[in-house]
Amino acid sequence: MIPRAEHGISRKDVSDAALRVVYGLQNAGFAAFLVGGCVRDLLLGLHPKDFDVATDAHPEDVRKIFRRSRIIGRRFKIVHVRFGREIIEVTTFRGHHEANNRLKQVPTREQSRKLDSAHSHAGMTLIDNVFGNIDEDADRRDFTVNALYYTTDGFNLLDFHDGLRDLRDRRLRIVGDARERYREDPVRMLRAIRFAAKLGFTMESETEAPIRELFHLLESASSARLFDELLKLLCGGHAGETFRLLRSYRLDRILFSHEFAEENTAMDPADRLVTLALRNSDERIANGLGVTPGFMLAALLWPPLQRQSRNLDGALNLARLGECAERVVLAQSSQTTIPRRISNVSKEIWELQLRLQRRDRRSVNYCFNHPRFRAGYDFLLLREQSGEDAGGMGEWWTNFQQVDENQRIHLLEQVSARPKRRRRRKRG
Ligand code: ATP
Ligand code: MG
Repeated sequence: MIPRAEHGISRKDVSDAALRVVYGLQNAGFAAFLVGGCVRDLLLGLHPKDFDVATDAHPEDVRKIFRRSRIIGRRFKIVHVRFGREIIEVTTFRGHHEANNRLKQVPTREQSRKLDSAHSHAGMTLIDNVFGNIDEDADRRDFTVNALYYTTDGFNLLDFHDGLRDLRDRRLRIVGDARERYREDPVRMLRAIRFAAKLGFTMESETEAPIRELFHLLESASSARLFDELLKLLCGGHAGETFRLLRSYRLDRILFSHEFAEENTAMDPADRLVTLALRNSDERIANGLGVTPGFMLAALLWPPLQRQSRNLDGALNLARLGECAERVVLAQSSQTTIPRRISNVSKEIWELQLRLQRRDRRSVNYCFNHPRFRAGYDFLLLREQSGEDAGGMGEWWTNFQQVDENQRIHLLEQVSARPKRRRRRKRG
């Protein structure tokens, strides 16, 4: 237990919503702690992106205390408590469980309801709803720096696994036996990479070494969870470094339907575009701007899309592009699910690439009024930056947006009006 005077956390750095959840639980007679990324980030002087709470209250109890709350997850039940736009994740302390319920496959709805713990034959945790006390909970957390608990009751910091020492030494260390923990949940390997990149920490050797050996286990992780992780990898502000690490541990092979070229080998423009998009994403986040998942996906799938369209028999048109896009998205969906709302944005951005390059009045008007115009234009600039020849249209569009209404009309007059389609003369 580290007293208030020896750690830098203060209540005023904690979001109101998180404090209300902690006090709400405590007033109802339960223990409640801030835990995980928020405590870690506060100690590092970073802005936590969200707050997680750990408690001895069971999900149903938590549900009853907060009006705007709901239980989510079957295999790992937690409660989301909502305050305005903020969601606080409340997790009941997890306990140890014997590896007695061995299931062959993903548990059915029925099994998840009946069992509170289950593993696969390979040791993967399939159901993790055995509750325990705070000591056990700390053993079940992934990394030592993620197993720090902060309590408003006395303002102490609880450190069960020397997380504070690792934090000071900027070291990422898994809790317990690395091989076993990765077997239980292979996604922890991706998390290790993500935290190493985000925090600039070095992975301790026992934590790092098994990744090269066990990365194939990620193939058995659920593709929906992999997509969630992928989004965090892309939009977390350290996408460039994360990707470099992912590639060096060969994890990109598991996450993507295609391989990425190494940054230091001869890359073609499509590969360079990926690198540029990752760098841009990091810059945007550093400047407080958002990153659209659909845009990032459009960039990451650009190399296979280019390959597909190079193999076409005829010239690339909208219909053929649509078919190529469908194939590329489908192939990727076998690695990570992609929600339609996200892949649709990527497809629109790709489609705009064809249209933005057309120098005719109708296309210009169409593009300029398109809801994804900005994303399409940014993507066009990325293509040119990566060395692709887009007929100088990037500059044309930059200019078009900067000038006033009159000059715009003038620019439009310069581009050809589209040759009218010959109408068949009606007879009689
Ligand atoms: P960030 O929110 O900045 O991405 P985080 O550490 O808060 O990082 P979350 O995914 O929000 O990550 O998880 C909150 C906490 O829950 C973690 O800090 C960790 O203690 C625990 N945790 C999350 N995922 C796992 C896992 N797969 N295995 C063990 N513990 C986990
Ligand atoms: Mg978190």
